[in-house]
Amino acid sequence: MRRANMLVHDTLQILAQMAAPGVATNDLDRRAREMLAQHNAQPAFLGYPSSSRSVAPFPGVICASRNEEIVHGIPNDEPLRAGDILSIDFGTCLDGYYGDSAITVAIGEIGAEAKRLMDVTKQSLEDAISQCVEGNRIGDVSYAVQSRAEKAGYGVVREFVGHGIGRNMHEAPQVPNFGRPNQGRVLKAGMVIAIEPMITEGSFETKILGDGWTAVTKDGKLAAHFEHSVAITKRGPFVLSRP
Ligand code: MG
Ligand code: MG
Repeated sequence: MRRANMLVHDTLQILAQMAAPGVATNDLDRRAREMLAQHNAQPAFLGYPSSSRSVAPFPGVICASRNEEIVHGIPNDEPLRAGDILSIDFGTCLDGYYGDSAITVAIGEIGAEAKRLMDVTKQSLEDAISQCVEGNRIGDVSYAVQSRAEKAGYGVVREFVGHGIGRNMHEAPQVPNFGRPNQGRVLKAGMVIAIEPMITEGSFETKILGDGWTAVTKDGKLAAHFEHSVAITKRGPFVLSRP
């Protein structure tokens, strides 16, 4: 899982470098496909089935979610613009094990409010990671995200959550970004969870666009998203998706 997650990390670093005004998210998707081919790794998102029969499987190897888009944005040919924020989510399967991580990046110069939203979302993930110790519960992880975000005046998305990860991308337990301390499943050494705060500038209400995939804020305000796959070990949290 370390190898799968470091491939995800390395790819996200390359895509973050590429992401600039004039570049399209399809360019990032193509680069991610090259990385998978070079490492004999399988895409985790491409072909992912929708829960709705009328919606085609996910067509990208990355999810590219811009501004008011929260998660599951489909890569396209529209050029990114200065001032955008872009969530890039990437997952792979390498030798039977999954890796999953996401970052939100600034495209050119961004506004102070967008920067603050990104900073708080990233910090909420760090807070959550520090709760990944044996004997704590999922609720401690969830509460860490929620309290950081809400204290800053932001919304916490309810419909999409983090997850266990291993031989499948999505495994039990669910890891919500809201919850109460000391509730839910007890964390044990050997568990790996993907923690992924999705934080909104305004209301936490969401809707899905007509493509059947892209989740956006209902009020059109910005959303940010960061994710790491984190192993619970006897020696504390081990973030698999960063060096
Ligand atoms: Mg992800
Ligand atoms: Mg995930």
